[in-house]
Amino acid sequence: MKVLKCDLCDETAQGETFEDWMKALRPHYMEAHADVMSSHNKEDGMKWMLDNKARFDAA
Ligand SMILES: [Zn+2]
Repeated sequence: MKVLKCDLCDETAQGETFEDWMKALRPHYMEAHADVMSSHNKEDGMKWMLDNKARFDAA
């Protein structure tokens, strides 16, 4: 189980896999960073995923 901070604040989420972690983080992201989410286009979303996957793997 890995615990990793949100990429925008100090909130943490945990997951066995990156997919689990993303699932755990999603409710927080919707609530705290909805504006960021809605400004992301498909390419930004892909980049976000790759960046955070790298962070998760390194944690
Ligand atoms: Zn956050």
